Amino acid sequence: MQPFGGAAFQRKARAGFAIAVIVAASDAAAISISLTEKPEGEPLNLFGIPGNNAGPAPASVTGGGTLSQVMSAAANYWEGVFLDSGPALDIDYGWRSLSSDTTLATALDFQTRDFGPPDAKRGIITFNNTETAFTYYADPNPTMAEDFDTYFQTTAELGGGEMNTGRVFTDRTGPAAGAFDLFSIAVHEMGHLLGLDDIDTDANPLEITSGPYAGASIATLFETEGHLDGSAYPYSLMQRAANGDRRLASDVDIAAIAELSGFNDVDYGAANLTMAPVPLQPAAALLAGAIGLMVMIRGNAGRAHRERAA
Ligand SMILES: [Zn+2]
Repeated sequence: MQPFGGAAFQRKARAGFAIAVIVAASDAAAISISLTEKPEGEPLNLFGIPGNNAGPAPASVTGGGTLSQVMSAAANYWEGVFLDSGPALDIDYGWRSLSSDTTLATALDFQTRDFGPPDAKRGIITFNNTETAFTYYADPNPTMAEDFDTYFQTTAELGGGEMNTGRVFTDRTGPAAGAFDLFSIAVHEMGHLLGLDDIDTDANPLEITSGPYAGASIATLFETEGHLDGSAYPYSLMQRAANGDRRLASDVDIAAIAELSGFNDVDYGAANLTMAPVPLQPAAALLAGAIGLMVMIRGNAGRAHRERAA
C-alpha cells in the first residue's frame, strides 16, 4: 500500500495536526468565569429583584486597588487551575451591608453543584461594606504579593500521597498590615461557587476518587456548611475563618472542588503563585504565631436553593 500523498502531503498533514494541537491548547482549555460588578443602587441578588441593593465601597480599603481588579485576578486564578473546557460561571458581585461584624463576604449560588458542560451556573458574591467592621486590602496586582514578607506551604498525607494543605502569605506589611486580603476572600467565595457547597452531600470525609490524589480522605463540615474542616487544615483556603493572611488554594481545596464538580483537567501547580523569594517554613513554626481568626461566612447555598424551591 502506498500512503496517500507522498512526502509533501505528509508534511502538510503534520502541519495541520500541529495547528490543531495549538488550537486545543489555547482555546479549549479552562472553565470560564464572567464577572459583573453591581454598582451602588442596583439590586445585588440572583434575580435582579428590588431590594438588597449594592452599596458603596467601604472607606476602609487600602492598597490602591479596586474590588473589580481583585475579582478579575481571582477569576484568572481559578481559570488557571481548572482547565476543563466548557463550564461557565457567571458571577454578580458588589458591596453591601451584611449586618454582621464578623462576616466578610457571602457566596450564593443559583444551581446545584452540577457544573459539567454544558451547564452554566450563576452566583453572587457580596462583600460586607459595613463601615468600621473591617479594613480590606485591595491589591491592584495580587500575583505579586509584595505586601507580605513571608510565604509558607504545609503538606500532609491524607491517603492519596503527600499533598499540599496550605499556601499562605503572611507577615503583612504596608497597606496590608491589619487588613483583610480581599483577593483571598474573592478566591474563597469563588471556590464555593465552583463546587464547594453543601447542597447535596454531607460527605465527611470527602473521598477523592480520581486525579493525582485519588484515595485521599478530606475532612469537611458539609453537614452544616460548605467548608473544609479548618481544624484539620488550618492553612487551607476553603475553611470558614480568615485572618487577613493571603491564602491561595491548597491542593486539598482544589481536590475537593474537583471531586464535587467533576473537574478532570486540573493544574495544581497553577495554584502556586510563588513570586517572592520566600522560605518554606515548617508548619510548626507558624503555629506559634497565634492567629486571631475572624469569621468568613458564605451564604448557605443549599439554603438558598431550597428557598427558591419553596
Ligand atoms: Zn466560605
